This record gives sequence, structure tokens and C-alpha cells, in this order.
Amino acid sequence: MPKNKYELRQNLTSKEWIIFSTNRGSKPSDFSIKNELKKQPKRGCVFENPEKAGGGLIKAFPDNKNWHLKVVPNKFPSVVFSKKKAIVKNRGPFKYIDGFGHHELVITKNHDNNFPNLSIEDANLLFNVFRERYQNIAKDKNTAYISIFHNWGPRAGASIYHPHYQILSTPVVPLEAERHLSNAKNFKQKEGVCVHCQQIKLAQSDKDRIIHEDELSIAFAPYAPQEPFEFRVSPKNHSPYFEDASEYEVHSVIKSLQTALGKLEKKINKANYNFYFRTSPVKDKNNYKFYHWHIQIVPRLNISAGFELTTGMEVNSIFPEDAVKILNSK
Ligand SMILES: [Zn+2]
Ligand SMILES: [Zn+2]
Repeated sequence: MPKNKYELRQNLTSKEWIIFSTNRGSKPSDFSIKNELKKQPKRGCVFENPEKAGGGLIKAFPDNKNWHLKVVPNKFPSVVFSKKKAIVKNRGPFKYIDGFGHHELVITKNHDNNFPNLSIEDANLLFNVFRERYQNIAKDKNTAYISIFHNWGPRAGASIYHPHYQILSTPVVPLEAERHLSNAKNFKQKEGVCVHCQQIKLAQSDKDRIIHEDELSIAFAPYAPQEPFEFRVSPKNHSPYFEDASEYEVHSVIKSLQTALGKLEKKINKANYNFYFRTSPVKDKNNYKFYHWHIQIVPRLNISAGFELTTGMEVNSIFPEDAVKILNSK
């Protein structure tokens, strides 16, 4: 079977796109489980010198000498930049597309301060940089979707301890994002309201799933989370695009996220987690007025086993109301 070094392939039955990134030259031992979240020494940490760890420097904030935050290309990118246009092609019955896109790392300076422990100034700077890079990458003709995410701890997929955040663009809208978008669209058509505005309202009337709330944002557990202690941070104002949110809104989302993650870390020893943005695709901006951007937080406490893999149905061992009660307890 012919293959490119960077390629996305579509599963014939599920229609899911899978990214193949084989440049690491994986050995069998690379797949063994290393799942303890352990503080690593600063000495020898590759992210003390981010541009040396990656492939140079994209930008330092506020400047190279007094940096608080640096953006570097990922040394092991999942996709690669190209001036050529990526188009879906056929290989017999199979479809594929060139793996063209951007894969950047955003590295905060302090070796130990992960997101809930960043100063509010640095957390604001981080989100401003997310927005700046997002807008920049969105201009590339090969960008269909941009994912911003954070992996904290080896169980969440972080191979380096030093806190870092990732921005990864794909030439197709991933199926998971498409599914969330079309469900939100159907809900709006049927019920006449935004599914996320509605979920915020329901959380407010139920009260027992709220972790933190202020005037502009809310952190709450959804009614049917897939994972124990999973939660969501939403701006209260209906808005489809993270990149268009106001500074006040983003500031409020940051505070809710820091507060809720602080509670999670206090209650769950060495919690490993992912957080990621759910926002509208970058093209055809008028088509996504029904969507409501938010941040999803998934603690990695469970390992999906045979049943989950075969059915896509997760087994959760705690009701969200009980999980939130634990998070909110003194
Ligand atoms: Zn470090
Ligand atoms: Zn909404």
C-alpha cells in the first residue's frame, strides 16, 4: 500500500479520519504504559529552552529576553505545513488526503506552574496567544479545523512534564467535531434554542452540577458525562467562535477554568486530565450561528476497555451530582 510520510486516512465504515504521523520511528517500548504523574526535575528539562527542543522559535511573549511564553513548532508534528493545496484523493476504494497543517506548542516559562497555578496575567496571555495563533493558522487555505488542547500528565498523553499546550490544524473537519456541530444544529432546528444555552439553564436550575459561576461564565458537569469528574466551562453569552469572544468573556472563562481545575487537583490526587476547546470550523463562518463555543475538561481516571471500544458507550462510576459534591466540599 503506498503511503506518504504525513497522511490522513478515512475509515471506510465509520468515516472517521485518522492521522498517521510516523516520523517518530516508534519502537514497541514506546507504547508501554507510563502513567504516573510525577514531578520531573528542572535540570535536563527540554522545555527550559523551547526553541532548542522544537524546530526553532515562532514567537516569544512579551519578548525573547523576558519571555513568559514561547510558541515553537512541534518537533514531532502530526501534520506538516505546505503551500500546496491538500485535496481528498482516491486510492482504489479508499480515500486519503495529504497531512498538511500546523502543529505548534505553546510553552509557559515556569517548570511547575500548570494551568490552575498560572498567575492570572500569564493565563490571560496564554489565551491571547491561543487566539492570535488561531487567527493566523485560520488564514492557511489548508486549514479546515483548529484544535487547541492541553494534556496534563502521562495518562492524558503528556510525554514531557513541563506545562505545554498544543495547537493543531487539520485539512478536514474531524468527525467528532462534525458530530457535535450537527447535533447542535438539529437541536436548534427542533427546539428553537441553542443546546448549550439550554444546558447552562438546566445546570442553573438543577444547581447541584455547578462547580463555579460568575457573571459571564460557568463551570458545570454535564447531565450525562462520559468520564468521572468531567466538566465543561462555557461563556454564558451565546457565541459560535472562540476567536471572536470578548476579552471580558475570555477572562471570565479563564477564572472559571482555573477555579474548577484547582478543585479537581485538590480532591483527586495527581489528577491527569485533558482540556480542549470546542469551537466552530474556520471556513463558512455564517453557517455556524447555532453553535456555542466552550472548553471541555476530561480527567483521565478510567481506561476504556473492550465494552467501551466495541460500543462507544462509556461506563461512568460516579453520577455528576456526586462528583460535583466532592469537588465543592471543603
Ligand atoms: Zn522545565
Ligand atoms: Zn448558546
